[in-house]
Amino acid sequence: MSLSLHNTLGRRLEVLSPLEPGHARLYTCGPTVYNVAHIGNLRTFVFEDVLRRHLQASGLRVTQVMNLTDVDDKIIRGATEKGVSLEEFTAPYTEAFFKDLKRLNVEPAERYPKATEQVPEMITLIETLGSRGHTYESEGSVYFRIATFPDYGKLSRIDLSQARRGERVADDEYEKEDVKDFALWKAAKPGERSWASPWGEGRPGWHIECSAMSMKYLGSRFDIHTGAVDNIFPHHENEIAQSEGATGEPFVNLWLHAEHLIVDGEKMAKSKGNFFTLDDVLGRRDDPAAVRYLFLSVPYRKKLNFTWEALGAAAAAVERIRAAAVRIGELAASGAEKPGAYPIEERSEEFRRAFDAGMDDDLNTAEAQGALFPYLRDVNAAIDAGALGAKEARLARSTLERADRVLGVLPVAPEVLPSEIEAQIEARNAARKRRDFAEADRIRTELAERGIVLEDGPGGTRWKRK
Ligand SMILES: [Zn+2]
Repeated sequence: MSLSLHNTLGRRLEVLSPLEPGHARLYTCGPTVYNVAHIGNLRTFVFEDVLRRHLQASGLRVTQVMNLTDVDDKIIRGATEKGVSLEEFTAPYTEAFFKDLKRLNVEPAERYPKATEQVPEMITLIETLGSRGHTYESEGSVYFRIATFPDYGKLSRIDLSQARRGERVADDEYEKEDVKDFALWKAAKPGERSWASPWGEGRPGWHIECSAMSMKYLGSRFDIHTGAVDNIFPHHENEIAQSEGATGEPFVNLWLHAEHLIVDGEKMAKSKGNFFTLDDVLGRRDDPAAVRYLFLSVPYRKKLNFTWEALGAAAAAVERIRAAAVRIGELAASGAEKPGAYPIEERSEEFRRAFDAGMDDDLNTAEAQGALFPYLRDVNAAIDAGALGAKEARLARSTLERADRVLGVLPVAPEVLPSEIEAQIEARNAARKRRDFAEADRIRTELAERGIVLEDGPGGTRWKRK
């Protein structure tokens, strides 16, 4: 494989070379579960899914960790206002998040650690930073002294001349120009949910969460860390300071960031009435695959302009892909024999190369999608001309399915039912009785492609799942 990815650290394309051969380790910042994700958030999660799927399609094992931030300023405020526990407050939003991922056909990560379940690891990391001289305490809170980390700013290229010694910021999220010491541990305010620590009752800051969890599950150094562009500063800058401050080693090889989604050319805002959740969008057009397709129609490093027209065009594109898949599938399941006048092998190989070239070029999903339609057009034309048989159609089908392992817009093949298999075995026995061995073989091949293996024995034909 030769996958080039744009590294925010250094602002250049780099070829991925996993630290452990054959295994890509990936950390993707997860949601803060204090509200329902908007479609801009979801664009980032779909980009990360495409990254994951392409790594797998390239033959790599992937270990992906995504944190769930279930304690921070906003969550504590929200839970207090509603008079409920943190768990009661965050549970419905966590559930909504996973429902959205499922509808957008996002494959699950290997782990989804919750911040509230990893507090001891965060305390240990803060202690390590303390022993290396990176922290100071003030009124029960612990801060990272950025002046002790000379590399501070290397990811975001923030203007360090704005930094004023000793000034600090206690909020989890703060202004872009605030180059200040940041909170690792925050002293509990009266009535707040808190944890015991060497510095008294309190709770971890947001940034330390991702350093602690990524290092726990992926090791102190790993391959890829992703997020949205607004994570670059302060969140990811702070993660680097915490992790490299603690280990003295490089933290992450490649930092990838997805650009914003805008609506009708404008930034999303509740006040402008252009702020959409997935439910809002599906309320107008109930086609999650079209939303996913639209997200992929623009490379992740470009701003995506969401419009209803663009969603309509995406829905039409998905419809064309599905219609072609059905047509190819029917021919593949038929007994049609053709001399193979159409060079399907060469054409499929040409498409695969174009598709992979797009994906390997910093996940250029627009280029990969663009390669698909000429291929489907050619296959359709060959079917019209009677130039494809079942065998050729099976190759076209597997070529399309391979592309869809990344695109993820086709429905997953329905589970084969035992009654359906029994009927097929019966049809095959009948074909063998009339010495139609071509038909018998076709049925066996078709079932094999659906994961069903037939075994002929003295007691008749038995089947099992592969
Ligand atoms: Zn994070």
